Amino acid sequence: MCFRCKVADYTELYERLKQEQARLMSELQQLKAEEKSVDGQREGSPFGKREESATEVFELEKRLTLEKRLTTALVEVEHALKKYEAGTYGLCDLCGRPIEPARLEALPQASLCLECKARQTKDTRGKSSR
Ligand SMILES: [Zn+2]
Repeated sequence: MCFRCKVADYTELYERLKQEQARLMSELQQLKAEEKSVDGQREGSPFGKREESATEVFELEKRLTLEKRLTTALVEVEHALKKYEAGTYGLCDLCGRPIEPARLEALPQASLCLECKARQTKDTRGKSSR
């Protein structure tokens, strides 16, 4: 792989990351805007309190899960963008070796090579089963 081609490849991935970042940010914003409008509706709600709170809890949980997922994804994308700016994009955070190009193609925000990722997943599983 020549240096020139490598840079071109990463530029395309960088663009994809930028787009992903914008998409995640607007989804989070939308989520927060919806939260506000739900609050507004609640004040003047004519429905019974018990029924309403069951739905609310469910909706709130759903929203929190989604928000958490979006935030995690955004953090990963921003981390990858920072690495790009620092010139370390495409290198594994743990071992420093280049991440497999196919992996980056499928997941531009990947910060670990397959080997380290597999090890980390194993470690996390081990901890959670304890
Ligand atoms: Zn690694």
